[in-house]
Parts: sequence; C-alpha cells; structure tokens
Amino acid sequence: MNQADVLIVGAGIVGLAHALAAAKRGLKVVVFERNPYAVGASIRNFGMIWPIGQPRGELGDRALKAREIWIEVAAKANLHLEQCGSLHLAYRPDEMAVLEEFIQTQGNDLTHLLTPVEVAEKSSAAITEGLLGALWSATEMTVDPREAIRKLPGYLSEAYGVEFQFGHVVTQIANSQVIAGNQPWAGTHILVCNGADFETLYPELYAAHSLTKVKLQMMRTVPQPNHWRLGPSLCGGLTLTHYQSFGDCPSLPALKARIAAETPHFPQWGIHVMMSQNSAGELILGDSHEYGLNPDPFDRTDINQYVLDYLKGFAKVPSFEIAETWHGVYAKLPGQVDLIAHPEKNVTIVNALGGAGMTLSFGLAEQVVAALA
Ligand SMILES: Cc1cc2nc3c(=O)[nH]c(=O)nc-3n(C[C@H](O)[C@H](O)[C@H](O)COP(=O)(O)OP(=O)(O)OC[C@H]3O[C@@H](n4cnc5c(N)ncnc54)[C@H](O)[C@@H]3O)c2cc1C
Repeated sequence: MNQADVLIVGAGIVGLAHALAAAKRGLKVVVFERNPYAVGASIRNFGMIWPIGQPRGELGDRALKAREIWIEVAAKANLHLEQCGSLHLAYRPDEMAVLEEFIQTQGNDLTHLLTPVEVAEKSSAAITEGLLGALWSATEMTVDPREAIRKLPGYLSEAYGVEFQFGHVVTQIANSQVIAGNQPWAGTHILVCNGADFETLYPELYAAHSLTKVKLQMMRTVPQPNHWRLGPSLCGGLTLTHYQSFGDCPSLPALKARIAAETPHFPQWGIHVMMSQNSAGELILGDSHEYGLNPDPFDRTDINQYVLDYLKGFAKVPSFEIAETWHGVYAKLPGQVDLIAHPEKNVTIVNALGGAGMTLSFGLAEQVVAALA
C-alpha cells in the first residue's frame, strides 16, 4: 500500500502551509488536490498578508510568525513579495476616532497615525482632499496568489520531497487510510484542508459546527501605465468595520450605525474596500461578503460598482480600467477564527480561516503540526 507520515487533503494555502511545516520536520508528506492545480479561495484572493487586521495576542503573533515564513519561502521559491505596508485612510471624524482608539490600545512601533501631508509622502494614490489622517502600518505585504499557489507545490517538492497527487479527489477517510482516485493510502497523520468543499468528507461534522460559506466579488485592473506603483495597500473607513483588531474600539458601534444609515448597501452586501498591486502592475480591488451554503453562481455588477465608487473616494490611480472580475468562496465558522477538529483518531481538520488564510496559515500550521502526536 502507498504510505506516508502525513497525508493532506487540499493544495490551497492551508494544505500547502501544513505540507511545509510537516516536511521541515523531516516527515514524508503527500498532498491530494482534486483539481489539476488548486483553484479555490487561495488563488482568488488579494494576496494580502494583513497582520494589522489581527488583534494583539495569539492571533497577532500567529500572523507575524506567518509573515516571517512568507518572507523566507518567497525568497527561496522565487515568488514576488512586496513589503509595502498599509494605510487606513480616515475622512470622517468617527473613522479618525476609531483609528485613535486603535493606536492607544493596539498600537506598537510599527503603527503610527499620519497627517495628510505625511500620507502624501507615503502614497501618491491616496486622495488627501478632505483627509483627516491615516493609520500607517509597516507589517502588511502582498504576494501574487496566482503565482504563489501555482509555484509553491514545485518548491515543496524540490526542497523537501513533498509529493503532490493533483487531479485526485479524496472520497473517503477511515482507519488512518485515505481513498484517493480509488487508491488506498495509509498515513500516520491525515490533515483535511479542504476549504469550502466541505460536503464530501465528514459532512455531519461540518453541519454540526454550522460551517457556512462566504462569497466575495473581486476585480483586477489592466497593468498600470509607465510602471506606476501603488506603494502601500490602501483601504478606507469601511475596513474598520471588518477586521477583528478594531472590534474593541469604543467608537466602532457609532461608525457602523452611521454607515448603515447613510449607505445601507455596504452592510447589506458586506462590502469593504481594499486595493493592492501585483508584480504585473495590475491593481486588485474588492470586495463583498455574502453568506450562505449555496453561493450565487452569478456576480452582481451593482456590487462591483459600489466598490469602485467607494474606492474612487479615497484613491486616485492612473487607470481604473477593469480587465477581469471573478468571485471566490471560503469556509467560515461564524464567530470563530478557524475550525480545528479531530473527527477520528489521527485525523485533523484545519479549515475556516475565513478572510485571513493568507495571513495566518503558515503560522497556524506550525502550531498544528507541532501538536501532532
Ligand atoms: C476573494 C477573496 C479574497 C481574499 N483575500 C485575502 C487576503 O488578501 N488575505 C488573506 O489573508 N486572506 C484572504 N482571503 C481568504 C483566503 O483566501 C482563505 O482563507 C484561504 O484561501 C483558505 O484556504 P484553504 O486552503 O482553506 O482553501 P482553498 O484555497 O479553497 O483550498 C482548498 C483545496 O482543497 C481541495 N479539495 C477540497 N476537497 C477535496 C477532496 N475531497 N479531495 C481533494 N482535494 C480537495 C480544493 O480543490 C481546494 O484546492 C480571501 C478570500 C477570498 C475568496
């Protein structure tokens, strides 16, 4: 029978991160991916490594650990990675109040409040007219997910001998065995990193946890002319309502109430607006959040228009010409940051990292693999 120390279901970022963590410890790893290459949430995202969105403490530390690993892996695997930092731009007093409270409780040496003049020095894209200030954070980075998710398997194979079984669906797991493409594989440990495809394996467990799916709409511009670079990734006041790191700011409820009263379509479609840039010079724009087990297969042009209109309120770039639109779907456990479960002996499910899989997976994988008996 085919055998390995660690069998992993799924070659998205969660599966790849666990493959790295296990292989670094000298374990023989085999990864099964149903598609010829992974086309789930991991290849469809912004590519933002976004520690500023994680609250101080365990999650913040996990994000910083993951950040370190990304830097190391990107250098070795020859991946584009830009340590660009981020700016949260505030145009309204309630947005500024949240930023000030954030700095008081969560701030550190790598985060500062900037005046509009200082913002202009960091970003030619940020609109400074009407700007009250901004939160600068140095820890954010961008990778190109289309490059990273395609190239990382090759790197893991070459550097650590990780074996990839692409085009192989895992249809069953039982008694430390995986059935993939009608072939049985025995594994000392089995890690299930199957993302939003959680109906095939252990469906009752996922149902018991009330796992759901989240659909996000995204856009990509044409490459910016004359090699124009964005610099720091940009976002505005809506993003303060999205990330957990701002969750304890006393002014947040008033900000949310004002947004809901003035612009109800933003909370209705779960819209917050961010912009990053890849190595080809294209701007990645998004996004929305629609919850439910059966995501609508069709995208809404009004959502993309809301995103673009809001973006144009805080960013000016040489070209907003849209080259491509798409959506992605991730698994989410409401109220939780991930789902780690042991449905049977030697099997660990690692799923539902929500909107922070690129930011957290490498750090989480270190902890999960270290805890394997
Ligand atoms: C549009 C969008 C933007 C986002 N932006 C960011 C961002 O900028 N920063 C950030 O940190 N996070 C971001 N996220 C979140 C992040 O992308 C996810 O948290 C992460 O990709 C989840 O990774 P995953 O490996 O669990 O899932 P996936 O990438 O979906 O991978 C799961 C894989 O498992 C395979 N699989 C499933 N079942 C089986 C089976 N039975 N047999 C074989 N293979 C199987 C699937 O084919 C799939 O390739 C974003 C998400 C989306 C959708």
